[in-house]
Amino acid sequence: MKDCIFCKIIAGEIPSRKIYEDELVYAFMDIGPINFGHTLVIPKEHHASSSTIPETTAGRMFRVGARIGVAQKRALDADAFNLHLADGACAGQVVMHAHLHVVPRSADDSFHWNWRQLKYETPAAADEAAEKLRAALKLHPDR
Ligand code: 5GP
Ligand code: ZN
Repeated sequence: MKDCIFCKIIAGEIPSRKIYEDELVYAFMDIGPINFGHTLVIPKEHHASSSTIPETTAGRMFRVGARIGVAQKRALDADAFNLHLADGACAGQVVMHAHLHVVPRSADDSFHWNWRQLKYETPAAADEAAEKLRAALKLHPDR
């Protein structure tokens, strides 16, 4: 897609440090890494949202991401890795070509996800949210 920086990276119009490529996905080093070795896995076909990526490609992204995570442990002395995907601006997505972050982690990297654990006010409130989700999945079985 015109004006998409990740489509330009796939086309070779913007340089990148390629880690892996096949017919469906392309993986390259993130220019502003959380930790050194942070890699992005993207579908070759342009999709702004992860929800429209065909299942085979989405599965390949996850598989390649996990393999790169293992390579980060082997090659970069990482102890672990995070797979992270931001879908939508308020989830933190800045580049609107879907991408899976593969972030190498070590015990002393002093990086912390700003994670919180809320509590449903009542069990019924949790049941209601679950029922809404199940209904929404049934209404749109493909997405
Ligand atoms: P997002 O916040 O959308 O999940 O992540 C976008 C990521 O793309 C960021 O981590 C950012 O560092 C990376 N990025 C943005 N522009 C470029 C670029 O031109 N080249 C590379 N290699 N990474 C980029
Ligand atoms: Zn694109």
